[in-house]
Amino acid sequence: MGAGLRPLTGTDDLMSVLRFAPSPTGRLHLGNARTLLLNALLARRDGGRFLLRLDDTDRERVREEYVDAIRADLAWLGLTPDGEARQSERTALYEAAFERLKAAGRLYPAYESEAELDRARKLARASGRPPLYDRAALRLTPERRAALEAEGRRPHWRFRLTGGRVAWEDDVRGAQEIDLGSLSDPVVRRDDGSFLYVFTSVVDDADMGVTAVVRGEDHVANTAVQLDLFAALGAAPPAFAHHNLLTSAEGDGLSKRTGALALATLRDEGVEALAVAAYATLIGSAEAVRPVASLDDLAGLLDLKRLSRAPAQVDMGELRALSEKTLHALPFETVAARLEAAGVGGGAAFWNTVRGNLATLGDAATWWAIAADDGFPAPPAEAEHAATLQKALELLPPEPWDETTWKAWTGAVSTATGAKGRALFQPLRLALTGAAHGPELARLLPFIGRARAADRLTRAIGG
Ligand code: GLU
Repeated sequence: MGAGLRPLTGTDDLMSVLRFAPSPTGRLHLGNARTLLLNALLARRDGGRFLLRLDDTDRERVREEYVDAIRADLAWLGLTPDGEARQSERTALYEAAFERLKAAGRLYPAYESEAELDRARKLARASGRPPLYDRAALRLTPERRAALEAEGRRPHWRFRLTGGRVAWEDDVRGAQEIDLGSLSDPVVRRDDGSFLYVFTSVVDDADMGVTAVVRGEDHVANTAVQLDLFAALGAAPPAFAHHNLLTSAEGDGLSKRTGALALATLRDEGVEALAVAAYATLIGSAEAVRPVASLDDLAGLLDLKRLSRAPAQVDMGELRALSEKTLHALPFETVAARLEAAGVGGGAAFWNTVRGNLATLGDAATWWAIAADDGFPAPPAEAEHAATLQKALELLPPEPWDETTWKAWTGAVSTATGAKGRALFQPLRLALTGAAHGPELARLLPFIGRARAADRLTRAIGG
């Protein structure tokens, strides 16, 4: 068993076990987040277990930094797996299953090189046949095999599929049926001895008692193969659900290699994790994309049957808008640590003052600087407003200030100068905050305080 995982025992029979099984060969993107969230939230909703399994058997493409990045992405999204396993540490289990299948006559060695297989596929296509492996290796005589080995060729191993059809009830797509005769016998072990995902995944899902596999619909054909593998190993298969895929705005598939819509990039751009979670889960389903207050809320909206069958196109504008709405609704307790890390003071009162004006949480630091930074540069006012600002400076009330100060102060300035509405408020806003728009000044003013307000007004009128 892998670290932290329990074997399936009789008492676990009723508990659902789901897993997210990325190969650490690139950065997780929004489409991976969809798979991740669907599994994690279903486990959460059903009181089941959620496992992170790192499919790291591809020695050439796996990088340790991607393993760390995957863990960081899960943590950012607020997901804590109940266990973690790495396929690279479970080789003994695969060896044992491999030997069993071999003894049962379900595996055979094959010696074709990648180039030879590629040529055969091209030839098949050119003559209008499906590019299936022709099982030539099954017909090798012992002499021919010995000759190939003598040439220094090492075999890879294929799993001999049973003929006939496999059927399953897919939790998203409904009744599915695939003719195994339309598929090539899958390679389960490379000539360097390493195992392939299609095989290791079955061994692991059986060993870990996984009850449901939710993954992208690019895996539908794998499911037919894997059901045949489960049967060959005498293991009960999990339920399967294949969700629709996400595409870029241009309609291209997402790839871990290109880095497009990588979670790390979204995080760096200040997109809220909870918005990413909601977007990745709700897009391309009958549920409207909308802000949620928590992952538990999101789990409550989940229904695999309501996922659409068509690919869903990611719209960054929609995601950003969702992120803003999500951010604006976050209570102070939820963001307190992040605000502190960003050097934002003022407690809940400040957060409640500015949150409605933020595009990203990072903007709160800008507003904190505007409110509380003594050196904040007030731009010079236009000449026509100098007199109003001069009066405003003279009429600044004594502290303490609260949310009523603004109204009383500007009322007095209006009476003294005759300035009203925009002609009164806009020059004051510009002088005090340096910006034409922003949070309600009545609420922001107490954070600026009398000394800074006086200083900024003085500088605005060129004093
Ligand atoms: N490692 C596979 C992938 O990343 C896992 C697929 C599965 O969930 O079985 O596509």
